[in-house]
Amino acid sequence: MGEKMPHWLEKQAVLNGGELALESPTFGQLSYLELRDKAKRFAQQLSILGIKAGDHVGIYTNKRIDFIIAIHALSYLKAVAILLNTRLTAEEIDYQLIDADANFLLVEPGEQAIFEKLALPKVITFDEVHQSPQANRSLQLEIDLDDLYTIIYTSGTTGHPKGVMHTYGNHWWSAISSMLNLGLDQQDKWLATLPLFHVGGFSLLMKNVIYGMPIYLLDRFDPSSVNQAIIDKGVTIVSVVAVMLDRLIEQLGDRRYPSKFRGMLLGGGPASAHLLQKATSSDIPVFQTYGMTETASQIVTLSPKDAMKKIGSAGKALFSAQVMIQQDDQVAVPSVIGEIFVKGPMVTKGYYKRASSKQTDWLATGDLGYLDEAGFLYVVDRRNDLIISGGENIYPAEIENVLLSMDGIIEAGVVGKEDPKWGKVPVAFIVVNKNFKLEEIKQKCTDVLAKYKVPKAFYVVDHLPRNASNKLVRHKLVEQLK
Ligand code: ATP
Ligand code: MG
Repeated sequence: MGEKMPHWLEKQAVLNGGELALESPTFGQLSYLELRDKAKRFAQQLSILGIKAGDHVGIYTNKRIDFIIAIHALSYLKAVAILLNTRLTAEEIDYQLIDADANFLLVEPGEQAIFEKLALPKVITFDEVHQSPQANRSLQLEIDLDDLYTIIYTSGTTGHPKGVMHTYGNHWWSAISSMLNLGLDQQDKWLATLPLFHVGGFSLLMKNVIYGMPIYLLDRFDPSSVNQAIIDKGVTIVSVVAVMLDRLIEQLGDRRYPSKFRGMLLGGGPASAHLLQKATSSDIPVFQTYGMTETASQIVTLSPKDAMKKIGSAGKALFSAQVMIQQDDQVAVPSVIGEIFVKGPMVTKGYYKRASSKQTDWLATGDLGYLDEAGFLYVVDRRNDLIISGGENIYPAEIENVLLSMDGIIEAGVVGKEDPKWGKVPVAFIVVNKNFKLEEIKQKCTDVLAKYKVPKAFYVVDHLPRNASNKLVRHKLVEQLK
């Protein structure tokens, strides 16, 4: 048994009961007391329907309020939440439900049919729960930090998604460590437009109940609603991925955010220097972060004081975390690129039913990067996507960033193609618009990239292969070459 503390939502209902917990154009405002009451009622209803401590319960919904109430209700029952990405195909969901040993599944009415062919889990709609009578069982009013709370699947960018187990302690340390970096202002209101089933979105729900900080929820990303929420609704921080930031800057135009806006937390994948410069020109502070499902969201983050000085860096390891670069099994010196290893109390103890990729206490991330002299991390690319050409290392992300900064190119994906002379050579798959001129693109590549990095072929395609998290799946491009 681990350390125990009062249930987070229960505690907020005592400390900040009447304060705003959640706000949304769809469902209005909820105080901590209201949220607590709804979650406990839902827990008692789930209990009547047979859900008990230790059950693995899949959650499949795009309705944010249902999602939030469900995850808190499950914690009152000490059941485990399996967070399902609603953009996956039925087959992909089935794989995750079976892999995670889900015995129940919560879905919106009308969506049951997708899951009917599975023997397990037992499918229950949110309506059935809401209409069910309540049990009168004693609920878990304490949290044991060692208890398993969630299983979240990785994005499946490099292969089959892996079910990452997180304890309450992992989520607790993630929230606390983030606060020790970004600070917490009385005025803070964090906007969630990312999906809640990914760890980045889910982590905001943990901050909501651990900090007592309100969350502003939008059902989907829309640049004008986000900008309006920052300008008119008192939002102080927004979690974004690179494409969102780009669209927000475009939509903002010549306007500026109010001074109370603290910044954009940017994560999930690489960000181009071009984008970061655009943000700077629009006076938008960007706190770049590095993290993955395994680290319960960010583990390395640029702090507000460094945001404008260290553009392009993902920052330093959070207070309770450590980062190390290894090359040839040795700790690399500053500036040398190697595999990123991380360690800290937010890092998962492992994948569900699968061997862990942890060596000792350090997690091998599969990503490449380097630290500068001052200890700031620069993420370079995924280790598996590295192209070695005539003995030179080529990082596809670097070339993709150059291509993306060019007029005429909308999307770019770079991979290595077999070559009798060089072993591999880089080639580019691009999605283009009407301004595209191949000769100009080739010329610009030659101007800014070393010769061996210039793509030897350009394939114009309609779209690039992306997974349900909208991440580029480069191994599918390699398959297309064959
Ligand atoms: P899978 O593990 O199934 O292949 P995935 O790694 O894409 O999928 P996630 O956990 O959603 O699944 O994504 C984490 C990955 O995203 C990191 O390992 C890294 O490759 C990438 N990433 C996150 N932050 C950054 C960043 N700041 N810069 C570059 N890449 C990043
Ligand atoms: Mg991964």
